This record gives sequence, structure tokens and C-alpha cells, in this order.
Amino acid sequence: MANQTLGLGENLYNYLLAVSLREPEILTQLRQATANHPMGQMQIAPEQGQFMALLVQLIGAKKTLDIGVFTGYSSLAVALALPDDGKIIACDISEEYTSMARHYWQLAGVADKIDLRIAPALETLDDLINQGESGSFDFAFIDADKSNYDNYYERALKLVRNGGLIAVDNVLWSGRVADPEIQDNRTQKIRDFNQKLHADSRVNLSLVPIADGLTLAMKK
Ligand code: CA
Repeated sequence: MANQTLGLGENLYNYLLAVSLREPEILTQLRQATANHPMGQMQIAPEQGQFMALLVQLIGAKKTLDIGVFTGYSSLAVALALPDDGKIIACDISEEYTSMARHYWQLAGVADKIDLRIAPALETLDDLINQGESGSFDFAFIDADKSNYDNYYERALKLVRNGGLIAVDNVLWSGRVADPEIQDNRTQKIRDFNQKLHADSRVNLSLVPIADGLTLAMKK
């Protein structure tokens, strides 16, 4: 997992940040707190958070899904970009990781926009579908366990509206997807997922090589 953009080299990456990153102070604080966490590499890159915030504003999103919260950076970046009546349904199984998330959402004044559901995300997503919420979300970010990526994607595709956007993280998997020597289960799951999306006529597609690779799929 990479929490900065792959392949640019340090000088160019630092230049990119120096001329474009506008990270709100609260996100900087959360990023620094997460850097001390043993799983800190799971946090998204700051330039990716800013990119997703821009996407959310571009499509006029009000209602979004965050599948895989960890310490809350992506939820917070999106929440800050949503209008006052915006809403995020955030899915995670860890009370421990998300306790840091909740702390920073409170500090940022966006806690009321974020509905955190502590449960396996597939259960939360199936509940939303069963409650008639299909087609009602504008944006979904998938960044949880890679073995379930396809399951999350299929449910997100039901839940977003036509013209809504699904963003999927870690699709370049630190470059391992392109190394034929690497055959572990998670790497293969991501390869399979990438190939499936390439052929999926239900969406318009772009794989953006920001951070660890972010696939954008717009529901037709
Ligand atoms: Ca990730």
C-alpha cells in the first residue's frame, strides 16, 4: 500500500505537493496522528483526499458512501467538501481505528454529516439496498479489504444514481499487480477486479495513477 503517489520520484512528488496541496489544518493533524499508527500506511495520500474532495464538488454530491474508514481521513476530506446538508454513510468493522476518526470529525465540526456503521460493510450495504436506498447515492469510495472489492463494487453500483461516481482505491497495489512473479491472493483479487472493470459496460471508466491507483467508474 502506498500513501503517496507512485512512481514520480521524491523531488517531483514534493514539487507536486508544494504547488497544489491545500490540506486543511485538521486533515494535516489527522494525517500526523495516523502516521504514528502501526497501520498508518493504510491512510490515503493527501493529494488523493484533495482530488476526491474536488470530484465530490464537481458532481454536486450530497450523499456518499465511505467503505473502509480506518482513522477517517477520506471521510473527513469528503465531509469538508459536502454541503451543510450532505451525508456520508461510513462503513468499518473497527471501533478502535474509528475512534480516532470520530475524534477528528468532531474537531472539524462535521460529525453530524457522518453516519458511522460499525459492521461488516457488506451487511451495511445490503441493509441500505433492502431499505430502498438504491440509486440514491452520488459518490462511493471503496477502500476496505481487497478480497471483497468486487462485492463492494456490485453493491455500490446499485446504490449510486445514474451519473454517480464510484472511486476504488489501491488498484495499482504498489505496482505488484504488474509483477507476474507476485501471485498472492489479494494481488490476484485486485488484478481480477481491474480486468472486470475494464470490460464493464455499465460504467464509464478511468484508472487515475494518483497515490496507489484510483479507479473512477461512473454509472451510466
Ligand atoms: Ca487504501
